[in-house]
Amino acid sequence: MKVSPPQVWRNKKIMYKLTASKCEVCGHISFPYSQYCTKCGSKNVKKVELSGKGTLLSFTVSYQARDGYEKGLPNIIGLIKLDEGIEIVAPIVDADLEKLKEGVKVEATLRRVYTDSYNGLIQYGLKFRVAEE
Ligand SMILES: [Zn+2]
Repeated sequence: MKVSPPQVWRNKKIMYKLTASKCEVCGHISFPYSQYCTKCGSKNVKKVELSGKGTLLSFTVSYQARDGYEKGLPNIIGLIKLDEGIEIVAPIVDADLEKLKEGVKVEATLRRVYTDSYNGLIQYGLKFRVAEE
């Protein structure tokens, strides 16, 4: 896989943070960030950073990966309900599959997504891990 440094730089804000928009009219939070409210359509929205904390609602395990992503197998993919009420699908890392269960608290953590074998560029992104007590 070939990655360009400018592309990594451009994606930084999207990959490193959970940026949403909060409607000033009805209070609805739209994720990912949108210039208008996805509930009432108002353009009166402001950028907010989500806490990155939530609850694991469900998860599945994948033993297949596309080219360049084989190192992380097996992949645990979680359905997470963030504390702000938004449900997202995201990778779960550092989890013991034997002990992982629905309902545990999880938190976002910055992790390597892949390494470009061509120029050694490393792309980071947010994944989730079981939150410490
Ligand atoms: Zn609204």
